[in-house]
Amino acid sequence: MRLFGRKKILHCTSCGKILKHKYKPPDDSDTDGFLCADCHIDKTKEQVLKKQEEKKRLQEEKNKCSICAKELEEKDKNKPKWQWEMGTGSVLCEECYENKRIEFEKKLNFCSICQKKLSFFRYNPKPKWKIGGQLCRTCWDNRNQAK
Ligand SMILES: [Zn+2]
Ligand SMILES: [Zn+2]
Ligand SMILES: [Zn+2]
Repeated sequence: MRLFGRKKILHCTSCGKILKHKYKPPDDSDTDGFLCADCHIDKTKEQVLKKQEEKKRLQEEKNKCSICAKELEEKDKNKPKWQWEMGTGSVLCEECYENKRIEFEKKLNFCSICQKKLSFFRYNPKPKWKIGGQLCRTCWDNRNQAK
């Protein structure tokens, strides 16, 4: 007896086999339609492997310096200061941390335009100027007058 008629025959989207029991593909796979038992197992395995790899990759990322990508031991990890705007989860090796610290201090203590050392009086550039750090009075005035 052949099963034509009202019932729609479904095929496995992966191997094309007629489905007696249909299985939904795993949530985050890009497969549409339904799968047979075998393909469902395969897809699920694939999915699990993918997730494991992703997890491993993230884990490795966390163990690398965010700047020079050097592998880091737990004890070598330095958390960047939030002011450095490096994003959460970044870690730095000793060397990059030190470089970053110096760079940041420079940015903090020197005019971003003329590189003159800033005195106690310093001026924050307007956001629309898109300049990082701070400015001396002269540069701020110049910049403010330039249209
Ligand atoms: Zn199949
Ligand atoms: Zn580094
Ligand atoms: Zn200046």
